[in-house]
Amino acid sequence: MANSIGDAQSNRAAVQATNDDASASKLSCVKKGYMKDDYIHLFVRRPVKRSPIINRGYFARWAAFRKLLYQFLDCERNVKKQILSLGAGFDTTYFQLQAEGKAPYLYVELDFREVTSKKAALIETCSQLRDKVGATASISQEKGEVLSDHYKLLPVDLRDIQKLADVITLANMDLSLPTFIIAECVLIYLDPDPSRAIVGWAAKTFSTAVFFLYEQVICLFKVEILPDDAFGQQMIRNLASRGCALLGIFATPTLLAKEKLFTDQGWQMNDTSLILKGTATH
Ligand code: SAH
Repeated sequence: MANSIGDAQSNRAAVQATNDDASASKLSCVKKGYMKDDYIHLFVRRPVKRSPIINRGYFARWAAFRKLLYQFLDCERNVKKQILSLGAGFDTTYFQLQAEGKAPYLYVELDFREVTSKKAALIETCSQLRDKVGATASISQEKGEVLSDHYKLLPVDLRDIQKLADVITLANMDLSLPTFIIAECVLIYLDPDPSRAIVGWAAKTFSTAVFFLYEQVICLFKVEILPDDAFGQQMIRNLASRGCALLGIFATPTLLAKEKLFTDQGWQMNDTSLILKGTATH
């Protein structure tokens, strides 16, 4: 696994660094008043100001995600629900939902150990975060784990499906509960085979689930916002030169191709909420 072709073109540290970019961009957006996030500043060491196009892209991403997540959480409120975030990075949704009194029964975040260790360390040391996971939470920076009753942060390489399945068991996920799965700018960094395997695994594993996918597309229609415009082409080049190429972009370049990836793996398309497209903002 570690020496796969994907790793040669896209190295683990560079892919992890996209999480720092995402966090810095979210903070830039928050500071400009595009969106509210009272926790993201805790995860950013060097704040930066992003250009308006990046701020707007992040706003669109945030607004679309929130809309669908709230739809899921607000429907049949008395039913227990869970959220699984694949490649969660320093995303703060769990902390926001806790503060809003909207957190689901169980919220599970997965990422590489290097990332979960840093997140665990911040959760342990920042009282604002620690309060939200509860006083009895067990936190190990070394293992990159936070285990509490309603929140789990665990390390895994998502490309290893057996370990992914094991980690879900370790997190005590109930496969029969309605589950909202998040993969926000994550699968696009993987080779097509592991992406396909994750999408298929999720379809088989959870009996009732929504898969929220947000990532770059190459649109073929002039009216769309295109990564085959100058902005998109530059982004594809920049990421490749940084060692975190968009390995999935040519296997599933369009919204239609992404839909097919999901339907081939057993997902049903009820509406466009299965897959969202937007301006890519890394
Ligand atoms: N979803 C978050 C972070 C996006 S950055 C957000 O939208 O803000 C991409 C994240 O995916 C990084 O944290 C990176 O470490 C993680 N990631 C990429 N490939 C992974 C893999 N094979 N296993 C686990 N995590 C992975």
